[in-house]
Amino acid sequence: MVTSPEDSAIILDHLASVRRRIAEACARVGRDPAEIRLLLATKTVTPERIRVAVEAGATLLGENRVQEALGKYEAIPEAEWHFIGHLQTNKVRQVLQFAKVIQSVDRPSLVEALDARLQSEGRAIDVLLQVNTSYEESKYGVAPEQALDLARLVKSHDTLRVRGLMTIGPLSDDLERVRRAYRLLREIHGQVEGELGPLPILSMGMSGDFELAIEEGATLVRVGTTVFGARAHPDSHYWPDGK
Ligand SMILES: *Cc1c(COP(=O)(O)O)cnc(C)c1O
Repeated sequence: MVTSPEDSAIILDHLASVRRRIAEACARVGRDPAEIRLLLATKTVTPERIRVAVEAGATLLGENRVQEALGKYEAIPEAEWHFIGHLQTNKVRQVLQFAKVIQSVDRPSLVEALDARLQSEGRAIDVLLQVNTSYEESKYGVAPEQALDLARLVKSHDTLRVRGLMTIGPLSDDLERVRRAYRLLREIHGQVEGELGPLPILSMGMSGDFELAIEEGATLVRVGTTVFGARAHPDSHYWPDGK
């Protein structure tokens, strides 16, 4: 399937608008836009459409599902792929085939599974700890009170380099609630840095709230629908209930 010129123009236009809004949010709080990395969340988006954005310089991409990610990685291997979805321990071998960073490390069993596989491959990988800052049952992530313990555990494994924290904010129109979640992640980030040393990545903010996340200190925002358009299924489809 080839992308039409009209569709390409829309993607490029949306991408430019997101970049402009990132710069404007930075200006409001006196931050340098160069501090913010834009990750495009590409779930359900075809490789042809992703490529339009990649050729415009948006080379940081994130996928939620391992199988879908592997196919897209083969189509666009030059991009930097992050894994941003819930990771089952039986998918660890496959995730390591494409991910430069795993943003969703959220429990000890996953730490151990990653470590075992990485040891057998004789290498290490960058990870973020995913924290459940909204206390919603349906969201994955370590509880805020347990984040520091998880950070210590990860740190004790030479195969895993903790680079920062990630959260999915509450899907709420109540922006003050969203802001509280992002403040909480920043606080936890400070605590973890107090023990582990500097962690450059604070991954928070999506289409509905990335400007707010930048105001609260995000260094990486994850944007999907604002660039590529609406997805066919609601987000609950990609973030299923239960573990
Ligand atoms: C889909 C997704 C995003 C982007 O969401 P949009 O609302 O489409 O911008 C960000 N982070 C994660 C973990 C996602 O699954």
